[in-house]
Amino acid sequence: AGAKTILEVNGIEVIYNHVILVLKGVSLVVPEGGIVAILGGNGAGKTTTLRAISNLLKAERGEVTKGSIELRGERIEALSPADLVERGVVQVMEGRHCFAHLTIEENLLTGSYTRKDKGEIAANLDKVYNYFPRLKTRRTSQAAYTSGGEQQMCAIGRALMTNPNLVLLDEPSMGLAPQIVEEVFHIVKDLNSKEKVTFLLAEQNTNMALKYADYGYIMESGRIVMDGEAQALASNSDVKEFYLGVG
Ligand code: ATP
Repeated sequence: AGAKTILEVNGIEVIYNHVILVLKGVSLVVPEGGIVAILGGNGAGKTTTLRAISNLLKAERGEVTKGSIELRGERIEALSPADLVERGVVQVMEGRHCFAHLTIEENLLTGSYTRKDKGEIAANLDKVYNYFPRLKTRRTSQAAYTSGGEQQMCAIGRALMTNPNLVLLDEPSMGLAPQIVEEVFHIVKDLNSKEKVTFLLAEQNTNMALKYADYGYIMESGRIVMDGEAQALASNSDVKEFYLGVG
C-alpha cells in the first residue's frame, strides 16, 4: 500500500457565468499509477471537475472560486493547460475532437508540437501504434472517415504523444458500441500497467468504468456522494440500484 498521491483536489467550487454554482465542494485523491473513475449521470459535474483540473474552464466562462488543486503537492490552479502538459498532465476531451481533415498520423503528430527531437517523436509514434494497432492500419486515413472508436483511440493517442503521467479522460465510452468501449478500456488498462500512466476518467458507463478502475467517486448535482474501491462500489446495493440498472 501507500502509493504516492499525484493529484489532490480539495473542496473546489466552480461557478459558471459568475452566478451558476455547479461544483459545490468537490474533493478527490488520485494515487500515482492508479485508474480513478468519476461516475454519475448527465450534468452531475464530471466534465466540470476535469476541466477545473486542466484549467480549461475559462473558455466556458467558468472559474474555480474555492478550494485547491495540487499536483504532487504543487498548487496548479494558476497554470495554463500548456504548463500542465509540460508537467505531464493532459486532457482528452469528451466527443473525441480529432481534426477531421487531418489523417490519423497527422492528428497524432499534433500531440508532439511542443517537442523537437525527431527521433523521440518517431519512437513515441511507434509506441502509440503498438498500443493502438488499429491506428497504424488507418494512419493515412482522414480522421473524418474513420469510425467513432478509431477517433476515440486517436484522441487518446494524441494525448500520449505528450508523454503524460496523468491523463484526464472525459467519457471515453460516449457513442461507442460496447465491444469498442471494452477495447478502449482494455488499452487504457494496458497503458496503466505497462507505461505507468495514471488515469482520472469521467464516465456515465458505471459498469464498464468499475470493471477497469481501481477506485471510484460518484457525483450527483455537483457533489461527491459516495466513493470507494471499484470492487466495493460494484457490489454495493445502492450503486447497483441507482447506477447499474440492477435491483
Ligand atoms: P455530461 O456527462 O453531460 O458532460 P457532467 O457530469 O460532465 O455531464 P458537466 O458537464 O460538468 O456534467 O455539467 C454540470 C452542470 O454544469 C450542468 O448542470 C450543466 O448544465 C452546467 N454547465 C456546464 N457547462 C456550463 C457552462 N458553460 N455554463 C453554464 N452552465 C454549465
